[in-house]
Amino acid sequence: MQKRAHADTTLCLNYCSYFKPGKNEDLACQGFIVVHSILRSGKRIPQERPDRIAIPPRRTLEGLKQRVCALCSFHDSDCDYIATSGASASCGGFALLAHLLGSGELTLGEIDEAL
Ligand code: SF4
Repeated sequence: MQKRAHADTTLCLNYCSYFKPGKNEDLACQGFIVVHSILRSGKRIPQERPDRIAIPPRRTLEGLKQRVCALCSFHDSDCDYIATSGASASCGGFALLAHLLGSGELTLGEIDEAL
């Protein structure tokens, strides 16, 4: 399990329904790790939650799952999104990445570069 001590949890506050400030702040899902890897590369990623969340095409969403969820330490036994085949909410990092793919602000190629 990866830790994210002292990391910026803005995206978790804005996008993650599972995040509990002060309780599980030190556990980092793969979505969070990828977003912060992209930020470290110098790309600007808006972390505010917009009025309208963009939804990427199904094929792009599957590509995101293959790239991000497959490497996540929550994937096998502790992710409601995976356990319910997408019926439950994803983590905040995945939700932000999906929105950015849907809005055209990010590409799967840029995610590949961040892995
Ligand atoms: S949706 Fe689940 S498996 Fe995918 S990155 Fe988030 S916590 Fe991990």
